[in-house]
Amino acid sequence: MRVHITESSPILNIPSWPINDDGVREVFAQMLEDGSWGRYHGPHCETLVAALRKYHGVDHAILCSSGTCSVELALRAIPVTAGDEVILAAYDFKANFVNVLTTRCIPVLIDTVADYPIPDLQQLADAITNRTRAVIVSHLHGNLAPMQEVCRIAADRGVVVIEDACQVPGAMLDGRRAGTWGNVGVLSFGGSKLLTSGRGGAVLTSDAQMAQRIRVYTQRGNEAYPLSEMQAAVLLPQLLQLDARNADRHQRLLELVRALGNSGIRPAMNLADTAGAVSNQPAFYKSAFMLPQSDNDNQRKQFCESARIAGVPVDPGFSGLHRVHSRQRFRAVGDLPNATQLHNRLISLHHTALLSSAETVKQIAGILQDCFEDRYTPGGVDGRV
Ligand SMILES: *Cc1c(COP(=O)(O)O)cnc(C)c1O
Repeated sequence: MRVHITESSPILNIPSWPINDDGVREVFAQMLEDGSWGRYHGPHCETLVAALRKYHGVDHAILCSSGTCSVELALRAIPVTAGDEVILAAYDFKANFVNVLTTRCIPVLIDTVADYPIPDLQQLADAITNRTRAVIVSHLHGNLAPMQEVCRIAADRGVVVIEDACQVPGAMLDGRRAGTWGNVGVLSFGGSKLLTSGRGGAVLTSDAQMAQRIRVYTQRGNEAYPLSEMQAAVLLPQLLQLDARNADRHQRLLELVRALGNSGIRPAMNLADTAGAVSNQPAFYKSAFMLPQSDNDNQRKQFCESARIAGVPVDPGFSGLHRVHSRQRFRAVGDLPNATQLHNRLISLHHTALLSSAETVKQIAGILQDCFEDRYTPGGVDGRV
């Protein structure tokens, strides 16, 4: 019989998400008093826009209804036209690929570097043709993509950079916030994300023309992609806590990696690049680890299922875009072997695990090691080498 396990199993002391702390509770109480939760317009969206602009140091922050439509709006802001090529990594969020199709462009898939969900810069350079209009670069699973290099390669060839910071709000990369390196950046406020209002997103840019195109596209005498006052209100107290929570998660993540040691569950995060310096601060929405190659996909699935039953919120990572879409829908640079490895072997740990205590993180490491022994060692219940 299948047991239904929620993100916050009672077995381990892992907080549920979102956290109903005082900041959020006060906002709800205040909204009940003043009725702002039910209005089309009010102070909350304006305040959030100002706060996001200041926090990121950008001229424009445009709120909208999801991270997915933020990416669509970024593409429309360029503007792309039918038949343009848009480059993205073969290991990326599935909606980014579909957005490229939605705007009638051709996705061009490039490989990642070996063992990390980070786009390969040489493949990026090789993929650019005179039909390339944009590249979408996502910061995934505790990694930060090398934006300085991406932007240099793109700028040299007249390609627009869309920086998907949905998984890393608040991260710092070479002294700038994630989402502010590209010509346009996107955030998600989805229910599991580090800043959440259940649904929602934002587009960040300092390009006045791009911002104007988004406004023209979304404002149709009525708002076509709105974020509500209620959503904006609950995001504000979370933004104030973001840096502190990111630092806590970082600390716990380092403890977890240390506790896992050489267990065979290898971190797929470039932690060396982000050790210490204030100008480089990662953020951990999902933390990526690699399991050994197995002869069938069940091994990884069962590893995750047993870990979840024990209360650890871990799942297989994304499916490679080249593995789930017909070849007719995209062009690819080469065979994408590294993205295939991520497709087969990556697992991702949800950030609530990193909001627990140091003691709980040790328990988590122990559970993951036990599951590993069971599934991936010759003496385990499912032992195959
Ligand atoms: C969550 C996410 C998005 C957008 O998600 P929505 O649920 O539409 O807000 C986009 N890109 C990445 C990498 C994400 O993780």
